[in-house]
Amino acid sequence: MQRYDIDSEKVGIKKVLIENEKGDYVFFSDVKEEIDILRMMLWMNHGHTGMYGDDGEMQCSQCMTEYGFFDWKRTPAKEIRERIYNKNIKEFLVK
Ligand SMILES: [Zn+2]
Repeated sequence: MQRYDIDSEKVGIKKVLIENEKGDYVFFSDVKEEIDILRMMLWMNHGHTGMYGDDGEMQCSQCMTEYGFFDWKRTPAKEIRERIYNKNIKEFLVK
């Protein structure tokens, strides 16, 4: 599993301080893992039926038709949001 420095500008994540089960405050170092889990849950439950991930990707043929190519696993969340918003806004304005 690939690990990232949580201070890295690449992933845009700041350190997160949490309280553990002993009541100690520790820096949470698994933010990337948490994001990966949440991305997978979103991909699996985003309302389409065209999902495939046979090579480790998290893609959807229905999303590609509607929003263009992107990967729920690797594409920045901001880009995914913009693609979906832009498509939906265009449909709303045309109607
Ligand atoms: Zn989709």
